[in-house]
Amino acid sequence: MIKLAIIGYPLGHSLSPAMHNASLRELGIEGSYIALETPPETLEKRIEFFKNEKFNGFNVTIPHKVEIIKFLDNIDNFVKNVGAVNTVIIDENNKFYGYNTDVYGFVYAIPENLRKNFRGQKAAIIGAGGAARAVLAGLTEMDLQEISILARNIEKSLDLQKMILKNFPHIKINFLLLDDNVDLSDCCIVVNTTPLGMQGKYEDISPLNQDTIATLPKNAFVYDIVYKPQKTKFIEYAENQGLNTLNGLDMLILQGAKSFELWTGQKPSVKIIKNSLFDFL
Ligand code: NAP
Repeated sequence: MIKLAIIGYPLGHSLSPAMHNASLRELGIEGSYIALETPPETLEKRIEFFKNEKFNGFNVTIPHKVEIIKFLDNIDNFVKNVGAVNTVIIDENNKFYGYNTDVYGFVYAIPENLRKNFRGQKAAIIGAGGAARAVLAGLTEMDLQEISILARNIEKSLDLQKMILKNFPHIKINFLLLDDNVDLSDCCIVVNTTPLGMQGKYEDISPLNQDTIATLPKNAFVYDIVYKPQKTKFIEYAENQGLNTLNGLDMLILQGAKSFELWTGQKPSVKIIKNSLFDFL
């Protein structure tokens, strides 16, 4: 019987239990995936709990994605690049292995023919928080050579630059303040990693205004990793300009599918995962 969980704090919004329990059921794997709220000061106790209760693995979300690393016995290359973990496997000897499947989800959600065209080109990323780390690692995976970070907090942008340059010293990083007038005419892809546009207080806000979006080339790809609503203001503005767009739903599904495969050795059905999220989205 497989025992899986997600840890984070707070966890009210997590879609992961629905997604993974649906895949367990579909593949006839006995076990369960539960949400375990874990306030920051209880992380060490939670690790002990996983060992004592013989869990097989877990997902990690805010605020533990970086802090968890010190409890792990091994990490994969994406984690080395990103400095954050979202998936942990626990083996039969209670050894903990950390992975970052957000990078995989981000990259493989993009249609393959477009991904290939990005090689050697320039990208822009909006935001400099946790998800921006995985997105930046994904952009380097796709071999983009120059990346502009648009954020309101220049110190966080500098941290991201350090992270990238440590492993990819040839990549050029530019910093731009997220203000009204930005020229993106040389970018082939722009990615929103802020919560602007997300259902709730930010829903009516686009991280870029229509004039800035209009500076993008006609074949640019506009990617919003926000998945609820599926058509954010940013996506709406980009579609108005006739640009190719993608929201964060496929990234969410693919990172989950990859985590599931790491724990069980079996590929879950993307369709089943999508259906399991239907009620929430
Ligand atoms: P985070 O670590 O809190 O980072 C958020 C970033 O957005 C920070 O750079 C923050 O700037 C910036 N920001 C927040 N409010 C802003 C505002 N009003 N104006 C300008 N910038 C603002 O959050 P995260 O974990 O990266 O998540 C960000 C979004 O990505 C969320 O909507 C989340 O749902 C989505 N996400 C999607 C997936 C997926 O699979 N599709 C995966 C992960 C995350 P400061 O640092 O200055 O506060």
